Amino acid sequence: MDFSLTSTEQQFRDELREFCSEYVTSEVKELTRNGTLHNWELHRKMADRGWLWGAIPAELGGGGRSPMEMAVFTEELQLAGAPIDAIGNIVLVASVILELGNDFLKSEVVPKLLNGESLASLGYSEPEAGSDVAACRTKAERDGDEWIINGQKMWTTMAHEADFVILLTRTEAPKHRGLTMFIVPFTTPGIEIQPVWTIGTERTNATFYDNVRINDRWRIGEVNKGWQVMLACLKYERGFAGGQYPSVPLIEAAHHHAETHTRPDGTLLIHDSVLREQLVRAMIDVEACRVLAYRTAALAAAGGQFGVEGSMTKLFSSERYQQHCDWFLDMQGPEGLLRWGTPEAPNDGEIEENWRHAPVTTIYGGTSEIQRNNIAEHRLGLPRAR
Ligand SMILES: Cc1cc2nc3c(=O)[nH]c(=O)nc-3n(C[C@H](O)[C@H](O)[C@H](O)COP(=O)(O)OP(=O)(O)OC[C@H]3O[C@@H](n4cnc5c(N)ncnc54)[C@H](O)[C@@H]3O)c2cc1C
Repeated sequence: MDFSLTSTEQQFRDELREFCSEYVTSEVKELTRNGTLHNWELHRKMADRGWLWGAIPAELGGGGRSPMEMAVFTEELQLAGAPIDAIGNIVLVASVILELGNDFLKSEVVPKLLNGESLASLGYSEPEAGSDVAACRTKAERDGDEWIINGQKMWTTMAHEADFVILLTRTEAPKHRGLTMFIVPFTTPGIEIQPVWTIGTERTNATFYDNVRINDRWRIGEVNKGWQVMLACLKYERGFAGGQYPSVPLIEAAHHHAETHTRPDGTLLIHDSVLREQLVRAMIDVEACRVLAYRTAALAAAGGQFGVEGSMTKLFSSERYQQHCDWFLDMQGPEGLLRWGTPEAPNDGEIEENWRHAPVTTIYGGTSEIQRNNIAEHRLGLPRAR
């Protein structure tokens, strides 16, 4: 495959780099240490440039940037350390509404999302339904023109910043049949949002729905056909995912540490041959991750299936990131365990912070085991995992 960029793609990359060097400042990055990987000011600047509309496929009425442009988009913003966790949800929810939603949802929700006014959360997971999301128990019962929703969702990331949640509910029979999807405004009475802090200092939420009443016009897709909406959600999630490059700032921090700290014999750490090999291997892994992401984008651009390639990219980048964190935390010795904010913490605790964050990346968006199952079943032709 030839991954060289077209002039439009290269131009977009240049534009993104210019934007990042101007607006993704150290202050913006420092603010993300509150655990919410979103910055309203930066977000609105991106919306003003039409980048949110641009991410919506042309056949849905959006700007229709190519999959390769979107791969470059996530790559440049991630490499700059921009807090962009909210964007994937926006693109997903807006795309699903444009594909399957009614006119009310199209006019009430989509412009707010794509103009940078509102965020959306994904309300799929529950305490007893994560990997097996179809085990959803949150109940929606019909009452005339309205629905009454009761239940609990877990890991509703960004709920504390968002205006809407796309909510998977059970309306009838167990498992995939009998699910119905809604878009629910968080201002609806009966919703409670409680913070959940991960080991990686990231804030997500548990959300509770207690006799939440919404009009039927907030339903998306047909009653009991929520699984079809869910499949569309997964399609747009995978389409946007692109590559993941958390190892890049980590490698830079490790390199800096190795060039400025000594071993017991007084020589610089960077002269340690094992560490040098680890640094180089980590850099090679980043290149492999980039190729995997570009391959996924190229398949998407050619109109092919890319779900398995998306799984490979996510699995590889998150698992290797975790390995890199282990290597570089070891390099720092016992003081590497000091957290950011502690004056003695080497590199202001950056490696330790990454080390706590890395395991979380192997869970959200589908765990490593689920990605392996997907690859085993759909690429290697192995029997379905039970
Ligand atoms: C920080 C964070 C943010 C998240 N944000 C959101 C969000 O915004 N919206 C949302 O809906 N969800 C979100 N999630 C939920 C996430 O998608 C789930 O945590 C994930 O799908 C795993 O589900 P679970 O936690 O219930 O674990 P389980 O599904 O209970 O899995 C437990 C363990 O069993 C393994 N396992 C499960 N099934 C299989 C199988 N068939 N084969 C092999 N191994 C298996 C898993 O890999 C895992 O190791 C988030 C999670 C985290 C940690």
